[in-house]
Amino acid sequence: MKLTDIPGISPARAQALQESGVRTPGDLVRFFPRSYLDRRTILKIRQLQGSGEQVTVMGTVTSVTESGFGRKKRLEAILQDDTGQLKAVWFKGISYFRKSINKGEYYAFFGSVKRFGRYLSMAHPEVEQLSSADTSMQDQQQRFAAIIPIYPGNQFFKNTYITSGLLRKWILSVLDRLSVPEFLPVDLLSRFGYPERRTALFHIHAPETPSHYQKALERFKFEELFLFELSVVTLKKEVFDKAPGPVMAETRPHSSRFFNEVLPFELTEGQKNALGDIKRDIRSGRQMNRLLQGDVGSGKTVVAIGSMLMAIDSGYQAVMMAPTEILAEQHYHSLSEWLQPLGVNIRLLIGNQKKSLREDIHTDIAGGMAGIVVGTHAIIQESIRFHRLGMAIIDEQHRFGVAQRALLREKGENPHILVMSATPIPRSLAMTLYSDLDLSVIRDLPPGRKEIVTRVLREPEREKLHRFLTERLEEGGQVYVVYPLIEESEAMDLKNATEGFDQIRVEFPGYRAGLLHGRMSTSEKEQVMRDFKENRIQILVSTTVIEVGVNVPNASVMVVEHAERFGLSQLHQLRGRIGRGARQSYCMLMTDVKQSREARSRLATMQETGDGFRIAEADLKLRGPGDFLGTRQSGLPEFRYADILGDQYLLEIAKNTALEMTDSDPGLEHPKHAALKKVFLPYLEEKKKFFRMS
Ligand code: ADP
Ligand code: MG
Repeated sequence: MKLTDIPGISPARAQALQESGVRTPGDLVRFFPRSYLDRRTILKIRQLQGSGEQVTVMGTVTSVTESGFGRKKRLEAILQDDTGQLKAVWFKGISYFRKSINKGEYYAFFGSVKRFGRYLSMAHPEVEQLSSADTSMQDQQQRFAAIIPIYPGNQFFKNTYITSGLLRKWILSVLDRLSVPEFLPVDLLSRFGYPERRTALFHIHAPETPSHYQKALERFKFEELFLFELSVVTLKKEVFDKAPGPVMAETRPHSSRFFNEVLPFELTEGQKNALGDIKRDIRSGRQMNRLLQGDVGSGKTVVAIGSMLMAIDSGYQAVMMAPTEILAEQHYHSLSEWLQPLGVNIRLLIGNQKKSLREDIHTDIAGGMAGIVVGTHAIIQESIRFHRLGMAIIDEQHRFGVAQRALLREKGENPHILVMSATPIPRSLAMTLYSDLDLSVIRDLPPGRKEIVTRVLREPEREKLHRFLTERLEEGGQVYVVYPLIEESEAMDLKNATEGFDQIRVEFPGYRAGLLHGRMSTSEKEQVMRDFKENRIQILVSTTVIEVGVNVPNASVMVVEHAERFGLSQLHQLRGRIGRGARQSYCMLMTDVKQSREARSRLATMQETGDGFRIAEADLKLRGPGDFLGTRQSGLPEFRYADILGDQYLLEIAKNTALEMTDSDPGLEHPKHAALKKVFLPYLEEKKKFFRMS
């Protein structure tokens, strides 16, 4: 069956539908209403309140008049039943309605009723003429006073004349002829009270009650979430959990010396638990694939070091990959400081190193002289060969996608993989996104952290900021000043930061300021960071390059310029740079006087809470999951009907149901699962391709 086989679909209309993604009759029935009009409430005119209630009234039109000129032009019709009168008004489509509404005929009007003085009025009602001569009057009334699906209208179809009513007609005529095979097992349907697939489609397109379309829609959401979870659970059981991984021994020299002699503090409970999870994984004989979640400053680096030492103790190499050069360098320095006393050879591998240096590093890595390699994504270049890679750490996971993880995996003999993220992804998202990973969460922060005070300051209050910074600097604190990245003009953000830097030097002549931006060379950046870390620089002016991971405990103030231009997660990350030492820390958000409602809401959230989880939730709500994580690179599945934010409970149910099914009938061999299996196997293949496993 083709679209044009459906009565009423001309080639031009078929074309418009196709351009909007509706290519086949099957697509047409999967094209769901945007909303429903409930026209079932029929009232007599005397029963109307005029307070905006949505009702159907029926009666005879006693007059049709046009009044006003130009833009004030309007059409009015009086509808009368045996209890009173109602005025209907049109401001648009006047010539059309003047022709179709006739004095003396019988009509049904549906709309929202308002009272203006003596008059009850309905603006732009839905109208249908009911011909009183017809014996099927009752039928007509019933058809009008029903629940009417509203489909995305004209505009959606490239301005071709396709109304909601036409769509409804076409869809119902397809549904009458289309076979709609069921694939959910009967026992599932009855357990959840879901209608069978074909019935569900009728309930979507021609519901008799609201619960019809609600339940039917839930069924379709469940269907796609269930297939997804079934693939996740299957992959996890059959592939991820079965992949062999290097077996690593009990704690040995390096690890115990590190924890007992080098590390200057006690581990937090969260850090201990995470290390416990990791130890269990690396002794299991299976490859570890673990996500370590912990808010900024929760001490994930120590867990990473512990994990890498476990590998080294068993004769393996380890690698730690960071999203930016600055971060990689910082990790390199702190790792060197801590691990050189233990005799671990650490190498830094980043993009723009001299050729001779790079060749030397490559040789070290390939020959096994380098125990730990710290670097950027330069590490996953093809030319890099490891001697014996056993542990791979990815810091700040949200910047890397599934593909990068797969590349890292290929660098060794199924090395254990630990991805670390400070983005506290809400559980439902974590479940869908990182479905191949096990989860460890650090919920506590190292002891002694003081709450960061956050203030929003407007441009006219800059004077206050100046006084405040002077006080903090006099106490011996250090200050970050961050400028936003301006996407439209790369030169602009640099200009902003540079001008800010010049001004700071004028305003605080007694202190040294440094400038950091993306276009400086690695060694220049490194020098500035080192100067700041060692307090040779007191004020660090920067573009957003310092966003993640940077650790300078003596810095106690974060000034964010044009804070209204930053996203919530970014602001949270920036604020996470301070409050790392003994000083009381302050985050000063400088904003323009004018700002959007969304920006105001972001700034308010920042003032209200320091809890990364709540901030992530708020951010997710403001931006939506696709934008929040970058759909394509993160591998976030795109659901047609379900919304992973709004339908979390269904996702949980789908997951549990999938777990149950893979337990009771792992290969879907039972006859009652035959139809499901047929749909599921190709779906699973697609997922495997995504994880590069086929
Ligand atoms: P993040 O999780 O954001 O990567 P870091 O690993 O950079 O956090 O740690 C933040 C700071 O906390 C560092 O200065 C680190 O040395 C310190 N730290 C980590 N663990 C502890 C602990 N258990 N007790 C005290 N300080 C800690
Ligand atoms: Mg970190």
